[in-house]
Amino acid sequence: MLRALLISLSKAEWAKRLVTRWKVAWKVASRFIAGETLEEAMQVIQNLNAAGLNATVDYLGEHTTDAEEAHRATEATLAILEDIARRNLHANVSVKLSAIGLTVDRALCRQNLERIVSHARSLGNFVRVDMEDSSLVDATLDLIHWCYDQGYTNVGVAIQSYLYRSERDTRRLVERRVPIRLVKGAYKEPPEIAYPRKQDVDANFDRLTDVLLQGVVEAGVPQISADGRIPPIPALATHDEARIRYAQQRAERLGLPKTALEFQMLYGIRRDLQQELVRAGYPVRIYVPFGTHWYPYFMRRLAERPANLWFFVSNFFRR
Ligand code: FAD
Repeated sequence: MLRALLISLSKAEWAKRLVTRWKVAWKVASRFIAGETLEEAMQVIQNLNAAGLNATVDYLGEHTTDAEEAHRATEATLAILEDIARRNLHANVSVKLSAIGLTVDRALCRQNLERIVSHARSLGNFVRVDMEDSSLVDATLDLIHWCYDQGYTNVGVAIQSYLYRSERDTRRLVERRVPIRLVKGAYKEPPEIAYPRKQDVDANFDRLTDVLLQGVVEAGVPQISADGRIPPIPALATHDEARIRYAQQRAERLGLPKTALEFQMLYGIRRDLQQELVRAGYPVRIYVPFGTHWYPYFMRRLAERPANLWFFVSNFFRR
């Protein structure tokens, strides 16, 4: 109930105006957000890299309503790619297609995505397309397949284990060797299309992990470059220790090295676990969001864990 309420508030303009007016909201949100400027995000990434963690950078924004805004988001992503290269950071970019025009005009979104993917390729970098709510899944996957049809192989996509359709989508992507980031899913979806019970979402996460690992067995383990850069490998994006353990054990049973898969976590969540995995020899990548449009991202983080909401409320009354 609470999760559904917070997710619906994440889309409400009035709630956004109300919440972002409070200084205390930013104080709590900044636990999950690297800052409002590119410079702040780059500092965070430098520190992560120094601690053995890779990053994927997200310029916050979604559901842009006009071409100009989509153009600005595209330019911002190109600038991030430039800065990563200039500073020689171990980082790639994550992009929400609704930020670069998917909900305005698909042709515009395709043009913007092509600019980003093509620029990333010229810099030897990789683009991860986030998965958004179910109304955008078909269009997102179509654009990913379009990229591969055009010969762009430096792009991957997130797949959500709460959707019934995800095993079919995953198998098709694995066949084409499209790198996948597996997540549970952060939106509110109806039971007609998504598992309503957490245990089923978890079980499907493990099943999809099996599909991804089998894909590595068949395609072979990609090599890590001499300077330690991680090639696109299956990414398991979760803070759930049971899911992580399952993946580790399955990979071991299949005789895969630790570098055959990557764990990904969100900035500010389970830093202890992030470090533990690095120490154990696994590639770990942190999702680093930054920018001024942090409200919906922040609300989804509150929705995932009620304790975050109580932290927010208690800070509010302590002002
Ligand atoms: P859960 O079972 O929800 O949580 C397991 C444990 O993790 C909890 O017990 C708690 O200790 C900790 N935890 C989880 N969330 C929080 C939180 N907000 N604050 C504090 N502790 C927490 N979703 C999409 O729909 N599309 C995407 O493209 C997408 N990309 C993602 C990229 C990355 C790198 C990650 C890590 C997640 C992404 N997500 C995405 C979000 C994902 O779908 C889940 O909503 C989120 O990861 C929480 O689920 P969990 O797997 O950690 O498992």
